[in-house]
Amino acid sequence: MNLPNPHGAMLAIDAAAIAHNWRLLSSRIAPAECAAVVKANAYGLGIETVVPVLARAGCCTFFTAHLEEGFRVRKAAPTSIIYVLNGMPPGSEPLYQINRLRPVLGTISEVGRWKKAGGGPSALHVDTGMNRLGLSLGEAKTLSTLNEWESIGIEVLMSHLVSSEEPGSDMNMAQITCFNRVKDWFGDRIKRRSLANSSAHFLPEPPIYELTRPGYAIYGGNPTPDQHNPMKPVIRLEAQILQIRHIEPGESVGYNAQWTAKRPSRIATISLGYGDGWLRSMSGADGKPGGAAMMNGKLCPFVGRISMDLITVDVTDCPIADVSAGQRMTLIGDGISVDDVAVMAGTNGYEILTSLGERYQRRIVGV
Ligand SMILES: *Cc1c(COP(=O)(O)O)cnc(C)c1O
Repeated sequence: MNLPNPHGAMLAIDAAAIAHNWRLLSSRIAPAECAAVVKANAYGLGIETVVPVLARAGCCTFFTAHLEEGFRVRKAAPTSIIYVLNGMPPGSEPLYQINRLRPVLGTISEVGRWKKAGGGPSALHVDTGMNRLGLSLGEAKTLSTLNEWESIGIEVLMSHLVSSEEPGSDMNMAQITCFNRVKDWFGDRIKRRSLANSSAHFLPEPPIYELTRPGYAIYGGNPTPDQHNPMKPVIRLEAQILQIRHIEPGESVGYNAQWTAKRPSRIATISLGYGDGWLRSMSGADGKPGGAAMMNGKLCPFVGRISMDLITVDVTDCPIADVSAGQRMTLIGDGISVDDVAVMAGTNGYEILTSLGERYQRRIVGV
């Protein structure tokens, strides 16, 4: 018996594309090591899905934001090296040690606490311009003149770029120069250095050092905005059409009547909404186009406000036979990339990925 699909929308995740993307980045920077950033549940795609795929592709080192994510990566890749970016809450030191997680130490107090707890493999984060996390330059310089930290196991010196996706930004060279100074203060006492995120792999002179930390590009996002995306698309998203309705000119669609038909129109109501991460900023109002979905090669605009569970799409220009209840429209795929969706939503692809909801039927393909 063919059971009806209980989900409104279907998210396919291509494991082969994830592995391909990581290998592509890794081969660009060899012999340096390419890690994988899997914070925010592997950019919304699922730690338990993504980490084993990357481990099989040869990835040995992972970065998470939170300790809790570190526990999950430890389960998914028992022999891997795992760094936790967001610091070490007081009292959590033994949790790092028991689970073989490596804190990214970003304050003098964290360095002190890690030493007191007995230390272990860890990274040191120095701020070179983000003004967000990490030791200040003054703190780093002072630390480099002391020797009591040398036994605590700092293996990687790292910093993070502000504008790596803008090859023309002066910030890149300024931060690289600054990072090189910090590197010289510590010299050989910290053996490995890491500065590059995804986009930095594609800078004219990529700051690779010994370890890189790509995230977005692994998941198919374009690390070179406005240029051809060198990565393979990883996800495909489709939603079911629930109803088709015919409306007359002058009739409005959706909450607060933000869009009005100017011609006899056919409207498809599809089964996803902002509850699935399809941001309300993609609503289509009179005079302000929003997002769109694809049907058999035809791009169909969203009309009216996006609701929690529903989006209304103008399918007037599609052949009648192409659109009926039960068929699916494509939200990502068939020429709509995650980066395209981001432009329609007025955000970046990172936010689109990490907003992907829990309600999709998730299918792993390409295994
Ligand atoms: C998120 C993050 C990365 C990965 O950045 P992408 O642009 O996704 O490649 C690397 N390093 C740090 C510190 C991060 O916070």
